[in-house]
Amino acid sequence: MWRLSCKSEVIEKSCRRPSCVYPNICKNLNTDQTPLIDLYRDARDVEGVKKILIASGLRYDLAVKTPEYVKELVTEHVGGYLKIAPEHTETGPLSKMMKPGIGTYDEFKRLFEKYSKEAGKEQYLIPYFIAGHPGTTDNDMLNLALWLKANGFRADQVQNFYPSPMASATAMYHSGKNPLKRVDRNSEVVDVPKGAKQRRLHKAFLRYHDPDNWPMLRQALKKMGRNDLIGNGKKHLVPLTQFSHSRVTQSRVFKTQHTGLPKNPANASALKGALKSGAKKGNGRGVKRSGTKK
Ligand code: SF4
Repeated sequence: MWRLSCKSEVIEKSCRRPSCVYPNICKNLNTDQTPLIDLYRDARDVEGVKKILIASGLRYDLAVKTPEYVKELVTEHVGGYLKIAPEHTETGPLSKMMKPGIGTYDEFKRLFEKYSKEAGKEQYLIPYFIAGHPGTTDNDMLNLALWLKANGFRADQVQNFYPSPMASATAMYHSGKNPLKRVDRNSEVVDVPKGAKQRRLHKAFLRYHDPDNWPMLRQALKKMGRNDLIGNGKKHLVPLTQFSHSRVTQSRVFKTQHTGLPKNPANASALKGALKSGAKKGNGRGVKRSGTKK
């Protein structure tokens, strides 16, 4: 975001909050995105510039504070799809990432769809999620998988957390404690998914639609006492019987959509191509930093 800052340098110097936007947007943070709208307009007026497209990098909880900004973005600067990163649906991992709840995503989605319709444009949001982040339990991943299914998404590109330098999540990963709050021996213990088996399972929940993951998911669901989610009906997460990849693809590909792909196959293939090239350019990341001050 552009030109967001604390309203006072004096306040900022003495501020001890780890984030200006979590657990809520600080009242001292200037969230006005009008300067960014002006920047877009100036950039469009530069001679030789035909089009400026923004594909990702948006802090949607701040964007919704200036609906005119979302309108400008959606009307002029989205080229069919926009990647945003709710990261998760559950409070456990979201609180460790200092990210807003999934309700804010819904609010942004509403504005995105409203302004896309007004502009007469068919365009889609691509939400990204992460598996294995500190603070995530098996149950959190199950709830995320159920949310994905209920909302008709299939995660094509999946991020799995790896500890990287200078991230508070890395401190959580190694210590099992939450450094975003005062740490002592009685302070909050953070669930940290570790080991190949649990990390694979968390990733499998994100790709619940992949037949390769069904045996592992069936086993985990039984262990979690959720046999009710195994079956061949619409309310089930994984089928009772093992289908082949091709059969699943034929029967399901346009019934669900991660990647925000439309149900219309012609548009789907065009957007799929765009997504693949986007992934090659920069999003093949397995590493996700989080917990940095924004
Ligand atoms: S959290 Fe951010 S906006 Fe709020 S007082 Fe501190 S520096 Fe300023």
